[in-house]
Amino acid sequence: MFNLFTSGGKTLQWYVQDALKRKVAIGHFNISNIEGFWAVVNAAKKLNVPVIIGASEGERDFMGGRQIRALVDSVKDIGVPVFLNADHTYSFERVKEVIDAGYDSVIYDGTEKSFEDNVAAAKKCVEYARSKNKNILVECEIGFIGKSSKILDAIPEGVKITEEFLTKPDEALKFIKATGAHMLAPAVGNIHGMLSGGKDPALNIKRIKEISDVVKVPLVLHGGSGNSAEDFKAAIDAGVAIIHVNTEIRVAFRDALKTQVAAHPEEVAPYKIMKPSVEAMQKVVEE
Ligand SMILES: [Zn+2]
Repeated sequence: MFNLFTSGGKTLQWYVQDALKRKVAIGHFNISNIEGFWAVVNAAKKLNVPVIIGASEGERDFMGGRQIRALVDSVKDIGVPVFLNADHTYSFERVKEVIDAGYDSVIYDGTEKSFEDNVAAAKKCVEYARSKNKNILVECEIGFIGKSSKILDAIPEGVKITEEFLTKPDEALKFIKATGAHMLAPAVGNIHGMLSGGKDPALNIKRIKEISDVVKVPLVLHGGSGNSAEDFKAAIDAGVAIIHVNTEIRVAFRDALKTQVAAHPEEVAPYKIMKPSVEAMQKVVEE
């Protein structure tokens, strides 16, 4: 099945290279429901920028992986490119599923495996992707940054942000050479989720640059919720082409929903109950 969404014939790969050249990053925003979908699409349209919609395994299970593809296909003609990425996917079987469903990119996440097992599984994913669709991008990860998209009280267990635990440039190069992955998500001081104080630890910009210089593939920054605008700018200058934001959108959804239900306890029309949540999520995406 070949179902890559392109804008004016331009692929996600083109937009990623263009972002690197122009020293900007494409925003990647996760959705869990159609409210989130409209929040992201409305924001992209309003700001006239390309955007990537992300759907993790859990989000795909909830909405339907093929249904999300159909939703994204339905906004082909809005004038801005909307791409679809399968966020953190932990097995070859589930990677295959989204490649077959025509996603524009997929993230194989083998960070809980040993380096060798991660390489072997990632390689299998890249080979399958190439055999099905030459335009699909496979992103891989090395270095663990946690798995949560929540508000955290502390740095998650197993995540170390001291220099020795960050992704090492030589390891990154070895990984990219062995797997042929198109993009890499390194551990560079970023964490999934955001800390309850609202401010995550600073990113290691020097390390981002060192990795980018050797791997020569676009880097993707995960765990963007909670990082500062200055950090984003410096990370982009150092080789980051895509920035992921999820937790902040989830918080906006939940908070607006709570307020709305409390303010109108008799309201039963879902589209009225959910409307402020769409607006709140859209505001986060625009920012
Ligand atoms: Zn992530």
